[in-house]
Amino acid sequence: MILEDWHTHNELCHHAVGTLEDYARQAIKKGLTTIGFNDHFPYEFYNGIENVPYEEYSMRLDELDLYLATTKNLRDKYQKNINIKIGFEIEFIESQVAVLNSHLSPLLSELDYIHGSVHILSLENGLWPMDDERFIEVFEKIDIDDIYAQFYQHNQKMISSKEFEFDIVSHFDLPKKFNKLPVKKAEFIEQASQTLDLIKKNDLTMEVNTSGFRKAVKEQYPSNEILEIMYDLDIPILLGSDAHAPEEVGWEFEKMIQIIKKIGFTQLAHFTNRKRSFIDI
Ligand SMILES: [Zn+2]
Ligand SMILES: [Zn+2]
Repeated sequence: MILEDWHTHNELCHHAVGTLEDYARQAIKKGLTTIGFNDHFPYEFYNGIENVPYEEYSMRLDELDLYLATTKNLRDKYQKNINIKIGFEIEFIESQVAVLNSHLSPLLSELDYIHGSVHILSLENGLWPMDDERFIEVFEKIDIDDIYAQFYQHNQKMISSKEFEFDIVSHFDLPKKFNKLPVKKAEFIEQASQTLDLIKKNDLTMEVNTSGFRKAVKEQYPSNEILEIMYDLDIPILLGSDAHAPEEVGWEFEKMIQIIKKIGFTQLAHFTNRKRSFIDI
């Protein structure tokens, strides 16, 4: 079976373990045909980021060259064993895309794909990294349905942005990570569906992220219910483990393939130089 992992990190981001080469070797050992490296793009230039432990969220700007040189070197070294694809996972922070692009634009021609992500919500008293366990108490201070509403509003802005460069919408229902689930279920589905319509309209790809199986919520992002809506809308998908340790590469992919096939999916997306193609599953 062709198995491709389009979401991995490594020690350069300061919160994952293992070198890029450790991840490549693990992917080969597991029999994957493609591994995508998309470590977190730097945060240090974002205005207002001072209250967030951003040094632990990504590589620094002065590590970008090392990251790209290392990934290219590994791509050549292991080309007979596996396809290595090069990308980034990039935070969308509204109104700060220009400064992001001043750092990203010169690198775009070297990339195969980009994950667009929302991990940080902008609240009245500053930025909140909602998937960082150290700030979990904020879930008790804000209405859970408001959190989901803000998360989808923020995703919709990302998806509609003409300036923000990305190919794949990652972990589509991330606020559920700590098993904090929406109460007003119908409103949640409505907001998620509006966001999916925008994804379809903009011809974007979505990630099915298996890291949720390792978290309190114990299921992939997005849920089966959302995957069924995505299937009806004919939105392209690919798989990502969101590995932060080498042994997490390809996490629960066999199980995930069975789930998506049961829903009806027959293809997965693949990226080269930010051009999408498809493989049969
Ligand atoms: Zn990470
Ligand atoms: Zn992420």
